[in-house]
Amino acid sequence: MLDEIVAAGTPPVHTTIFHYEDGSVPVTIKPANGVDALYAPRRTVLDRVLADAAWDAGAEFRFETTVRDVVRDDSGAVGGVVGPGLDVRAGLVIGADGINSLVARRVNARVERQARHAGTVVYCYWEGLDAAGYEWAYANGAAAGLIPTNDGQVVVFTGTAPRRARPYQKVLAAASPELAERVAAAKAPLRMRTFRGEPGFMRTAHGRGWALVGDAGYFKDPISSHGITDALRDAELLARAVTHGSLAEYQATRDAVSADLLTVTDRVASYGWDTDEIRGLLRELSASMSHEIELINTFDDEEVAA
Ligand SMILES: Cc1cc2nc3c(=O)[nH]c(=O)nc-3n(C[C@H](O)[C@H](O)[C@H](O)COP(=O)(O)OP(=O)(O)OC[C@H]3O[C@@H](n4cnc5c(N)ncnc54)[C@H](O)[C@@H]3O)c2cc1C
Repeated sequence: MLDEIVAAGTPPVHTTIFHYEDGSVPVTIKPANGVDALYAPRRTVLDRVLADAAWDAGAEFRFETTVRDVVRDDSGAVGGVVGPGLDVRAGLVIGADGINSLVARRVNARVERQARHAGTVVYCYWEGLDAAGYEWAYANGAAAGLIPTNDGQVVVFTGTAPRRARPYQKVLAAASPELAERVAAAKAPLRMRTFRGEPGFMRTAHGRGWALVGDAGYFKDPISSHGITDALRDAELLARAVTHGSLAEYQATRDAVSADLLTVTDRVASYGWDTDEIRGLLRELSASMSHEIELINTFDDEEVAA
């Protein structure tokens, strides 16, 4: 689907710059495994591309439809979902319904790993702001980031511990006075969005007649900027497990490649670090992502049968 993402004008990102109190460190993205850039499409682009691809592969959509419950057969196994105007029976119900997953609640999916920290993230879309790629800043218990996306817009987010929450511009200036100055010169957005925070978790990923994927099964603080990547990775793992593997294998692989990332993300989300410590944590974060890159490299081009 990358071709569609690129065709939608999503800017390729070739460099990530880390801004610290004592200087900036640019990191060039090395072309590898057929990928020479990173992309951060708007959800309006990504979700459409994903839905179109699923439709082409034979999926059927019911938009604007809410699942209110799962249904169980006589043995107690999940065998479908119901909601207003909705009654669908299925051999496997996959809860891909996000952080507040109704499916996870209805099947009593156990939380197997629980993170402790939950950062407050405020973000919005700026125009007329140049970003040299992804730019991340960390200082004074605050983080900020610039993420170029579609239509010439740049997402500027701030993150901090809820107890230190203060106006967006102040958190931005705490993370990087230089970024705050650049952002102040750009066209201000109409709307700010706030995510108050939720500690990360990893839930049991499957049971009789059900499975969880994406944030429904595994959520981590957004400071990792890695949730969509992991949701797509796990969708691939789950599809393979359903067609020619086992759900137990799916969970084992998900957990093996995610546990370190969840732990280190939680430490970043504490916002209790100093400059030396955050450098080390970001190195650990990068190392923990390398496990999943190795895994993704083992995916071949074989089509997963529908
Ligand atoms: C502030 C913030 C910033 C983030 N930034 C990034 C980032 O920069 N990069 C990144 O990779 N990740 C980021 N993430 C994480 C990313 O958004 C998630 O990891 C990702 O969206 C998970 O995808 P998902 O499909 O599992 O869940 P979602 O994207 O939440 O999708 C769940 C879907 O299920 C639907 N749904 C829920 N309940 C029901 C129901 N009962 N019936 C029918 N439909 C239902 C919802 O409407 C929604 O469409 C961020 C998260 C936050 C909170």
